[in-house]
Amino acid sequence: MMRLLALLAALCAVTHGCPTILTKSQWGGRAATCRTAMATPVTYVVVHHTEGTACSTQSACIAQAKSVQNYHMNSNAWCDIGYSFLVGEDGNVYEGRGWTSVGAHAPNYNSNSIGISVFGSFMNYNPNTAAQNAVKNLIACGVTRGYIKSAYILKGHRNVTATDCPGNTFYNTVRTWPRFQA
Ligand SMILES: [Zn+2]
Repeated sequence: MMRLLALLAALCAVTHGCPTILTKSQWGGRAATCRTAMATPVTYVVVHHTEGTACSTQSACIAQAKSVQNYHMNSNAWCDIGYSFLVGEDGNVYEGRGWTSVGAHAPNYNSNSIGISVFGSFMNYNPNTAAQNAVKNLIACGVTRGYIKSAYILKGHRNVTATDCPGNTFYNTVRTWPRFQA
């Protein structure tokens, strides 16, 4: 009985607070052509927008994930989609490089950060509540699972590189979130 309770507690600790994460194979993403393992837990979380088309259904978000991955692999000649994870206004998370691979989303921060990108262009409006909650829950999930330090530092992409990312309106929202530091 004690063993069963311990097992249940462990399962809860693993799954608590995590949003739905579609693995790359679940959304039909291409396999990476190379990979660098990342030491965890990481110190930084960097928030992005894709500066592309927003999506509010799983099928539309999958189409966007494939489009972003093709752009990063075909045009940029990267090993994989650049972000660690992507988030849609359907409230789902789409796995990119995941928790344990170095990404290609924020120079100088890639080897010590999780990069989360919301599908859409948020210069003049915010991602919907479902997408914002999915980002927050994904961060909490990463902390719970030991991939992100509990004393992590949250940044917008523009805080580490000259870029408009993650859009003026969304950036002003992200600035109000816990653990943000410009
Ligand atoms: Zn960005």
